[in-house]
Amino acid sequence: MYNVGVISHSPYCALDTGSWLKLICGASFHHLPSIRNLALVYSLAGVDCIDFAAEPAVLHTVQAGVDQAQILAQRWSMSFRRPWLMASLNAGEDPHFRKAYFDPTQCPSDCPQPCERVCPALAINHTGVLQDRCYGCGRCEPVCPLGLVEFVSKTYAIPELVQFLLKADIDAIEVHTQPTSTEPFCGLFEDLRPLLPRLKLFSVSVSDGEGLENFVQQVGQVIQNSSLSEQAKQHLVWQTDGRPMSGDLGATSTSRQSVALASKFYALQPKGHLQLAGGTNHKTAALIDTAAFPIAGVAFGSYARKLVQEEVDGALIEDNMQCLSLALNKAQALVAPYKPHLEIRCHG
Ligand code: SF4
Ligand code: SF4
Repeated sequence: MYNVGVISHSPYCALDTGSWLKLICGASFHHLPSIRNLALVYSLAGVDCIDFAAEPAVLHTVQAGVDQAQILAQRWSMSFRRPWLMASLNAGEDPHFRKAYFDPTQCPSDCPQPCERVCPALAINHTGVLQDRCYGCGRCEPVCPLGLVEFVSKTYAIPELVQFLLKADIDAIEVHTQPTSTEPFCGLFEDLRPLLPRLKLFSVSVSDGEGLENFVQQVGQVIQNSSLSEQAKQHLVWQTDGRPMSGDLGATSTSRQSVALASKFYALQPKGHLQLAGGTNHKTAALIDTAAFPIAGVAFGSYARKLVQEEVDGALIEDNMQCLSLALNKAQALVAPYKPHLEIRCHG
């Protein structure tokens, strides 16, 4: 059904050549049918890595999606390389690790439900917030005239988390944090010590803020002095989270904030690679072309998910070939500017 170019680049090579792409399933996104189909579609489209909530059910679901992608690729004689799997954690408070909720019995019966209209994840209905779909973007909070929306942050029990990660078949870890959270980061990094030697990649996702320079210096030093492999140290990823969870708004400005933050990082010259996130969308590739410093790649989250939301939000996507074909074409259009050698042509 499909022809595809040869996938020859390793993920390390993608980082070294500026063609690295990651799908962000969402650190707080737990809608398993969508996650499975997202993993399937974007694996076939050729992403290098998939990141997801560090929980057993989510990991197994991502693996199931990638397994099915591999089966389809073999059936269609497509070249295929399994993306690296990256578990997302947080050090300190972080908006990626929260969920909204409200009590629907408190809502006036004549409320026009602006919260439902602004939610990009179809996570709100008459019963309140559907917890598995909410990924914490925060857009429902300011539009509620009664201030009913609140957030609950996710906190991991570290010993259980480390036990799970030690047994899990993952390639990489990402820690979301803030420039003011050097201490929580270092504490978590110490807890992760037993895992570090076997990781292929480590990523630090950070937003802009006061103290960025000190944070980058101290955290960079801790990582470079750790037991991570030399390759992982060399390919350390700094994810510049310009405007968290905003890429689906579609505006160029959301990508600009990520590029602007990457520029600040570049001035600090940390060891490793700069990778954009937080506001990335279909306008990001053009902005990268104009950047006066090297960018190793891009992570797509809310934009990538929204792009194929209709197709992935249900049963096994491969049971409806028209649906799969549509989703794959959209995903490939997002991937193509970074990986032109992966041109997919649909014959059926
Ligand atoms: S708008 Fe964002 S925070 Fe609110 S329910 Fe939807 S996904 Fe969750
Ligand atoms: S906007 Fe506020 S009051 Fe209206 S439905 Fe949403 S949560 Fe309820």
